[in-house]
Amino acid sequence: MTDVRVRIAPSPSGNLHVGTARTALFNYLFAKKNNGKFILRIEDTDAERTSQEYIDNIFDSLKALGLNWDEGPDIGGDYGPYTQSERFDIYPKYAQILLDKGFAYECFCTPEELEAEKQEAANNKKPYVYTKKCLNLTEEEKAKLRAQGRKPAIRFNIEKAQKAFHDTSMLSFNDMVKGELHVDTNLLGDFVIMKSNGSPTYNFAVVVDDMLMKMTHIIRGEDHISNTFKQILIFEALGAEIPQFGHLGMILAPDRSKLSKRHGATAVSEFVEHGYLTDALVNFVALLGWAPSDGEEIKSIDEIAADFRIHEISSSNSIFEYDKLNWMNGQYIKKLSTEELKERLKPYLTKYDLSELTDENYTRMIEITREPLKLLSDITDAVPYFFGKGVHIDEEAQTKVLDTETAQDVLKSFMEQAPDWEWTEENLHEKLEKFRADYKEKGVKPKVTMWAIRAAVTGRTCGADMTAILAILGKEESLSRAKAAIKATV
Ligand code: GLU
Repeated sequence: MTDVRVRIAPSPSGNLHVGTARTALFNYLFAKKNNGKFILRIEDTDAERTSQEYIDNIFDSLKALGLNWDEGPDIGGDYGPYTQSERFDIYPKYAQILLDKGFAYECFCTPEELEAEKQEAANNKKPYVYTKKCLNLTEEEKAKLRAQGRKPAIRFNIEKAQKAFHDTSMLSFNDMVKGELHVDTNLLGDFVIMKSNGSPTYNFAVVVDDMLMKMTHIIRGEDHISNTFKQILIFEALGAEIPQFGHLGMILAPDRSKLSKRHGATAVSEFVEHGYLTDALVNFVALLGWAPSDGEEIKSIDEIAADFRIHEISSSNSIFEYDKLNWMNGQYIKKLSTEELKERLKPYLTKYDLSELTDENYTRMIEITREPLKLLSDITDAVPYFFGKGVHIDEEAQTKVLDTETAQDVLKSFMEQAPDWEWTEENLHEKLEKFRADYKEKGVKPKVTMWAIRAAVTGRTCGADMTAILAILGKEESLSRAKAAIKATV
């Protein structure tokens, strides 16, 4: 069997979209499962929509996801991507082969003429296909048009190719994901393969590259199915082996519309900025259309690769459930060691002066606040009260807790006793236990006693372990906050 070779071929007209990341992942998994090669090819034939910033983003995002490609031009010890714009001298040669074989022809139609054709089709309520006006131009007619300064595009001759390789106008192929698909090629229309400016169109460049790069399987989104028919005919016309195709269902937002910015992050780099771990994102994205055989959803990329079966990919669309991703991200955060988490959280703590905390206290702060984190960025709002002098009291803490007589009484007793306490977490634990027990005897529930202290010291009604918070803040700051929350009696 020939060695499996697959590719991801993004067009750099935006940052790497999570849908493209899924296509990349499925290609990568298929390559790993079959000991094949995974290749990155940047499809930048559309110069107007291309930017270096997007190319860099695609490059960095794939690397961040761990989707490393197996070959490409040497860029100083690493593989660069193959880039179509650097291969522009390759495509005309293959267009010439098609011209010579009669599978392609020159088209001199101007954009205005083509627009008029489209308009006429629209007026007659017919789907537009090119009228083949230029199919049978004589050499003389062509010379005349050239003399007028017209530069020809090159069109593919569908009917000729179809007739050469098939009995009827129907073309079909067996899709690895969707099963048999077919089309009446009369509906495809002779499409342009080389533009009049000498650059190849997507459908042509993709086939030449897939042929020269010896791709065995093409796994991509179902939005490319209509292109696939055209591409099969070009493969045949070039005498190349046709790869196997697998088209993936689309990824939709929870409201079943196209996933877009209004639903949340869509680019991999945005997810990373928002505090998602790339391992979690890879795991989640793998489950969009595919399920592990043992039903266990949390899996590393290697485990997924070993279990991956392309024929079991769902042929329908998948829903991108942000809630599930958040849950999964939380599971991955739980798996990180505190040391690792301390480093990963730093970018989300830049608004605080971490030098206020000893390393030991920073570690302890993370230990006591990590449990509910779903996104790394959740840490930003979880820890403001660990920093600075004094604390902002939120409205609920003020009205529901600090304004009550019980809270005021608790804080006064706290201020009478606590200045004498040794301020270590262990000792505070013991002292507060006794403090609560005394209040319980007076009919105040232990949690109500602690609410008063929490509201005064953190400005909130809930949060991390209170004893540890007091120990981290230190005696002076803790007592100063408790004191500040006691109302002056008139
Ligand atoms: N460049 C195409 C795109 O970004 C993908 C082409 C392909 O996979 O064949 O949609």
